[in-house]
Amino acid sequence: MIVVSIRKVKYDKNNEWEKLIRTSSFSRLFKKEPTMPILIDGKKTSEEIKNEIAARVMEIKSEGGKIPHLAAVLVGNDGASQTYVGAKVKSCEQVGFASTLVRLDEDVSEEELLKKVEEINDNPDIDGLIVQLPLPGYISVEKVTSKIKPEKDVDGFTPANVGRMVLNWPSYVSATPNGIVELLKRYKIETSGKHCVVIGRSHIVGSPVSILMARNENPGNCTVTLAHSRTKNLPELAKTADILIVALGKPGFVTADMVKDGAVVIDVGIHRVEDPSKKSGFRLVGDVKFEEVAAKASAITPVPGGVGPMTIASLLYNTLLAAEKKIYK
Ligand code: NAP
Repeated sequence: MIVVSIRKVKYDKNNEWEKLIRTSSFSRLFKKEPTMPILIDGKKTSEEIKNEIAARVMEIKSEGGKIPHLAAVLVGNDGASQTYVGAKVKSCEQVGFASTLVRLDEDVSEEELLKKVEEINDNPDIDGLIVQLPLPGYISVEKVTSKIKPEKDVDGFTPANVGRMVLNWPSYVSATPNGIVELLKRYKIETSGKHCVVIGRSHIVGSPVSILMARNENPGNCTVTLAHSRTKNLPELAKTADILIVALGKPGFVTADMVKDGAVVIDVGIHRVEDPSKKSGFRLVGDVKFEEVAAKASAITPVPGGVGPMTIASLLYNTLLAAEKKIYK
């Protein structure tokens, strides 16, 4: 039998999070005080990381060094992309980085975009460069990504950085997988020897996080199963996971019957679902049915406030590494 050794938090009946678990259908069914899972708080952790980065920026300033500088390229007017880029720029200000937002028209040619990337590659004042995805269909993401200088690729998307990450060489690890691993580390979740099931094999989340979880490192040293849309018996497989990382992009896909008692559940999904009870008319949910799964898990990330905020913190961290030439000497 595999035993997951996780800290249990003390029950506090006035805590809002604990109230939620107490009133969950699971608790009602068994008419008992539930064991509280650890809420893996990405919002709080990302603020801690940002404070650490801000403190380092202050040191750099006092040593007369160069302030880290991130450039973001945004093509077109997609609402979600504007929000994401806006949040990244705002976070740069928060930690004391310089930032440049380059906005290009929706109908910009591939050639013009590649020229802009080259220009930023050659600008010695800029340490990190991101090109917000998705790009218009007529632009080759491969061509644009490959054009970014690996030294400035703080998203960790270029073939050079992905390859280095796979080899466990110094590299910029892409923001979301890096954020997941950092959460596990900061919450001291034991991963060694555990079975980690990752649902979803995308290049930006599922595949890289499966590699990180299998590394001979802490966090890591898991036996990893990478599941996808062709995987057979997914519910049974998911139920064998000590650590379940869910990144498939389907709201509420993972239900309590797919989760082992005491599992650690990391929900990467993020979706807007209609909710007339909210002023905005919608609420955010993940790929996991939070309430019922939380009642079985030993630790779980909420949506919002779990993996999401860690993504920006990781990007800032990579930009700091770039400015300090910690990856490419
Ligand atoms: P993606 O590129 O759409 O990939 C989805 C993956 O899930 C694919 O590998 C797909 O399998 C698999 N899948 C789809 N349906 C499945 C099913 N029924 N059973 C098993 N596997 C299935 O998604 P992504 O970009 O990784 O994003 C996943 C989710 O994470 C989305 O909700 C996205 O919004 C969210 N996300 C959040 C952050 C953050 O910062 N919090 C960052 C990135 C993404 P196939 O390969 O076989 O098609």
